[in-house]
Parts: sequence; C-alpha cells; structure tokens
Amino acid sequence: MKKTDIFDVIIIGAGVVGSCIARFLSRYKLNIALVEKEAEVGFGTSKANSGVIHAGFHDRPGTLKANLCVTGNSMFDKLCEELNVPFKRCGALVVALENKELKILEKLKAQGEKNKVPGLKIIRDDDLFQIEPNLTRRVKAALYSPTVGVVSPYELTMALAENAKQNGVRILLDTEVKDVTFQDNGAKVVKTQKGVLFAKYLVNAAGLFADEIARMTGDNGFTIVPRKGEEYILDKKRKELVKHVIFPIPQRQTKGVLIIPTVDGNIMIGPTSQVIDDKFDLNTTGKGLQMILEKVRKIVPAINDRDIIASFAGLRASSEGGDFIIQPSAKIRGFINIAGIDSPGLTAAPAIAMMVAEILKGEGLKLVQKDSYQPSYRWIKFRELSPEQKEELIKKDKRYGNVVCRCENVTEGEIVDAIKRGARTLDGIKFRTRAGMGRCQGGFCTPRIMRIMMNELNIPLEKITKRGRKSNILWGKTK
Ligand SMILES: Cc1cc2nc3c(=O)[nH]c(=O)nc-3n(C[C@H](O)[C@H](O)[C@H](O)COP(=O)(O)OP(=O)(O)OC[C@H]3O[C@@H](n4cnc5c(N)ncnc54)[C@H](O)[C@@H]3O)c2cc1C
Repeated sequence: MKKTDIFDVIIIGAGVVGSCIARFLSRYKLNIALVEKEAEVGFGTSKANSGVIHAGFHDRPGTLKANLCVTGNSMFDKLCEELNVPFKRCGALVVALENKELKILEKLKAQGEKNKVPGLKIIRDDDLFQIEPNLTRRVKAALYSPTVGVVSPYELTMALAENAKQNGVRILLDTEVKDVTFQDNGAKVVKTQKGVLFAKYLVNAAGLFADEIARMTGDNGFTIVPRKGEEYILDKKRKELVKHVIFPIPQRQTKGVLIIPTVDGNIMIGPTSQVIDDKFDLNTTGKGLQMILEKVRKIVPAINDRDIIASFAGLRASSEGGDFIIQPSAKIRGFINIAGIDSPGLTAAPAIAMMVAEILKGEGLKLVQKDSYQPSYRWIKFRELSPEQKEELIKKDKRYGNVVCRCENVTEGEIVDAIKRGARTLDGIKFRTRAGMGRCQGGFCTPRIMRIMMNELNIPLEKITKRGRKSNILWGKTK
C-alpha cells in the first residue's frame, strides 16, 4: 500500500454485496479498491447462509427487500453463466400443515403477485406428493414458486471478486478499516492497519459492522442487530429427500426452518433465528439442532440426525427497521451506506449493485464504459468434464490425475488452480473446490492440501491457516 493510493471508489467489505458492486463498477473507467479485513473474500456472512435465491413473495410490497429480491432473482441465470458458478432453479414449496394455514398461503401468493413474482400457484393432494413424495401426508396444500433457486454463495462471492480483479479492481485483503475522515476537497481518507487510502467515493458494505463504519463518519443513524442462524448439512446419500426448497409457514421475523436441496447435492436444514449481542458468536448448539430437527421432521419425517456431516452458523446483519438501508449519507457527499442486508441479501446483491451505481452517479461519479470489460470468468471444473476431456487434461498435466479429496473427487490440479486464483487458506481452497466438504470433512485430504499449499505458496506448514488470523493448523516449527 503506497501513500499515493488514490481511488475513484473504495468499497469497504468483500462480501457478496461489496464484491457484486466491485464487479458491476469494473465495467467503467474507474480506479476501484475492494477492502476486506479477513484473509479472503466472502469470509463474513456471505460464506454462511442457506444459498437460496428467493423469489420475493416473503417481503412486504414497496420495501427495498421486495423490489431488490425480485430484480436480483431475475439476474441470476446470466450472472452465474458468466461467472461459471452452479445455479439451479429448483423451485420452492411453502407447506401448510393445518387448515387454518391455508389462508396464509393465499396471502403469500397475493403478496408475491403484488411484488411481480412469476408463476405462483397453490397445489394439493396428488400433484403435491408426486413432485415431493417424502412430504408428510399431513400437508394440506403448498404454495409453489418456480423461480426460487439454489446457488453456492461462497463460490459466487469468490468468482465475483476474482472477475472484478480481472477487470482491474484492486483487492486488499487482511486490511481492516479503522477510521474514516474527510478532507476539505471532499476526499475520503480511509485508515487501515496497513496504511492510508484516499477515495473520491466511499461505499460502506461492511455487513455486520456497517454501523461501526458509519459511526466513524459521525453517522449514528442506524444500528445493526446480529441475528444468528444455525444450519446442518446432511450426507449426499440423502440427496433424494427433497427436490424443491421446502419452506414452512413464515413467522413474523423469519422465513422459518427450511429443507434445502443445495446446488452441490447435499440436503441442508436450517436456519434458526436468534437475536444475539455478540457479532463474533458463530457457535452451533444442541438446542438449535433439536429445534431444527423437530421442525423439519414434521414436514419430512425421513430426515435423520445420523446423516448430519457438518454444521455452521451465520449472523444476519439486521436493521432495527427490518428493511435494507441503501442510501447516500446525509452528512457527507460521496459516501454511501449499505446496511441491514440480512435475508434476502444474497438474492438481492446483483440488484443492489445496480442501485448503488445509480446512487454514485447521482452523487457525481462519471460512469464511462470501458471496451476491455470482460464479464466472462472461467476455470477448470474437472468433475464436469467428459471422460475424453479428463484424459486429455491428465495427459497435459498429470496433477489432474491425482485425486486429493476422495469424498468430493477433487484433484491436485484443481487445488493448484484455486491457489492461482487467490486461495491463501484451507477454507479458501475448500470454498473454491469443495475439497474437505465431503463425508470425512477433510480428515483424509487436509494434510495433502497443506503440502500442496506449502509448495505452491512457498511457506512453511506452520504458517498455513484454516481461515487467516490465528487459525493455524500446526503450532511450533516444522522441519
Ligand atoms: C443463516 C443465514 C441464512 C441466510 N440465507 C439466505 C438465503 O438463503 N438467501 C439470501 O438471499 N440471503 C440469505 N441470507 C442473507 C445473506 O447471507 C446476506 O444478506 C449476505 O451474505 C450479506 O452480504 P454482505 O456482503 O452484506 O455481508 P458480508 O458477507 O458479511 O460482508 C461484509 C464484509 O465486510 C467486511 N468488513 C467488516 N468490517 C470491516 C472493516 N472495518 N474493514 C474491512 N472489512 C470489513 C467483513 O469481514 C465481511 O467480509 C442468510 C443469512 C444468514 C446468516
């Protein structure tokens, strides 16, 4: 970082929202920096969510959530095609278990139609059990929504940031913004533990910490309330349990506990919804698991806790008012707050990026298209190749013939590719390749991946971390 680093736009926070904005703005002739406190992009809430691309029937008409969810949803096919990220429009069912809940299904349908959600219909009896045979026969009816999809949220965030980088965005990792001040000429001074950056325009996309960044500028206008969600992943052998995302009847503040056929082929159950004080509490709990199991078994009785292979928790960055906050600061021209981006923030992210570009334009930023913009981003996905293509690739580079992660079938060649794309931690490799995400949860492949990292990154084994900071796998010195 040099003292002369002056950017047109600095974006604080490389979650899915900040990365989407960086990528969207990278089509223009602008000097942009994406600043992230963690070791890799997407290591905040964007790595720990349900991965559902919502349709938009849950949100109150007229809210930013409703508008940006519906628009964001419609952008996902093209976005994921361009970025080589798996996305599946599997559809969803909201199920009513009691007759008195049928009215709520009608209300959700009407709300969705007001929000311009396409294809909603109520289905019952044979039609329902034919498409989802494992549902309990207690289900009275369901709201069917064909535009709901599933995506890998971390693959998406990483591909967005990497494509933005390919288009000229500077990504500054392990760089925590400590203070923001302003000069008389309007320049924003961003102080980090690594040095000072200057920007004409500043975008606050710091997720859970967006209120703290705003406070650095004297803006106390909003507070972020962390809301924890625990999720549990089942072994791929249970992948046939459901084909659609299954929602219960929603509660006041939450869409409820879902059964999700993830895009990677696991079933996931969750999340819980618990308001907490601690922005760092990512523990899963026995109580959370019991609550989830109780709820999902009422809908799909065949779900079994013995099939759980992994668990995690994520924190929703909720605003007190409940809606997204996306607006220029009333105090400082050229400073945009993006806050309260809880669910459906993953879905809305591409639409938020477009909205932020319009706000920046309104604040005076010139948006001039550049000819060199490259929206398409590709890397080798070995498991998607035909047998002939695999053979051809192994002939050229035998590392693609060496399977490192046996559960998920990930080769040494793919791990090396992930490092070349920017992975610096075990989780960075896991989220880019799925190595370590299978039944054994890295028991077999972790030492092998560490050795590849040691050779490729030219670092000793004890410097390798799970997710940056002090998450080293080994302590002491290795020979
Ligand atoms: C359990 C759960 C389930 C969810 N399910 C869904 C779903 O199915 N569908 C959906 O649409 N949405 C879902 N969401 C919501 C979705 O995950 C979020 O809306 C989205 O990830 C928010 O992205 P973000 O970029 O705003 O935040 P983040 O991903 O948290 O990014 C903010 C970044 O800012 C960085 N940062 C913070 N402070 C600083 C600083 N001082 N300096 C530098 N960097 C900083 C952080 O490290 C972080 O990487 C879910 C959320 C949870 C918790």
